[in-house]
Amino acid sequence: MVIFNEDLCKGCDLCAWVCPKKILHLDATRVNAKGYNPMVCTDADKCISCGVCNWICPDSVIAVKKAA
Ligand code: SF4
Ligand code: SF4
Repeated sequence: MVIFNEDLCKGCDLCAWVCPKKILHLDATRVNAKGYNPMVCTDADKCISCGVCNWICPDSVIAVKKAA
């Protein structure tokens, strides 16, 4: 599962580009505290906890945890 510190996101889209499952998308319906559309995971069940999104994010927005 992926957890976002949403208000730190600047909507750069890097995590969405690298996600092998293509389950990360900018939420065009909302803006965060910085005024950007925040990144969200649209299908958590497909996440393989690879951690690539966490690794690529320049602002340390994303934490990845394996579901119990
Ligand atoms: S941990 Fe991997 S599969 Fe899950 S959202 Fe991040 S990049 Fe995608
Ligand atoms: S890489 Fe980080 S800052 Fe960029 S869209 Fe993803 S979560 Fe937001």
